[in-house]
Amino acid sequence: ITLADGFGHRWAEILMSTFLQGRAEDLGRLDRLTGDGDFGNNITSALRRAQQSIDAQEPQDYRGRLTAVSRGFLGTGGTSGPLFGMFFRDLAHCSDGGEPTLGELSDGLTAAVATVQRYGKAEVGHKTMIDALVPAARTLESLVPGTDPVQALHRTAQAAIEGARSTADLVAKRGRASYVGEVARGVLDPGAAAAAIVLQAAAAAQST
Ligand code: ADP
Ligand code: MG
Ligand code: MG
Repeated sequence: ITLADGFGHRWAEILMSTFLQGRAEDLGRLDRLTGDGDFGNNITSALRRAQQSIDAQEPQDYRGRLTAVSRGFLGTGGTSGPLFGMFFRDLAHCSDGGEPTLGELSDGLTAAVATVQRYGKAEVGHKTMIDALVPAARTLESLVPGTDPVQALHRTAQAAIEGARSTADLVAKRGRASYVGEVARGVLDPGAAAAAIVLQAAAAAQST
């Protein structure tokens, strides 16, 4: 089943509007508690750059839009910039260029998560974006055969949200939050929360 016409377009747009209208700033506050506080700026500048390149080049297909998002992140500092950059690059390449099928998106998400793990060496439980991404990719894989795409993407986003919530109870084993030990317990990981928002945006892009 191919995702709805304009899925890539709406996914990119919802990402920009959600993060640029305050969500990135909220997540930056979390990074201030357990890291160096730049997460909000990192994600905002990545998406501003993506928006500028979309405005300038007007990419017309799924791959073009997701590639603009990927490049926005790849040009950004912090640990999350390159990791999200590579994540979106794998997703950009999951189809022949047009809107992916649900199966292609699932394979793309699984590949993207593997890439983040290859570079970042984080496992589930290390209090990173991986805590949201791994359950999301597994959920989508399990739902590909025979599930309506709107349902499948909502349940995928739900798995990411639950995974992100689970990071609050953890002490970090990767990233700057690992430098502060017990201080990070009780604080949500901003990268995991951002990953959950990315997948919520995908669900919204399919259902509207
Ligand atoms: P920095 O710590 O370099 O300032 P950012 O603030 O841009 O990085 O991003 C912090 C987020 O990056 C964390 O909330 C976490 O989710 C994610 N992160 C950090 N290290 C890793 C890693 N090794 N693997 C996956 N994600 C990571
Ligand atoms: Mg930071
Ligand atoms: Mg930093």
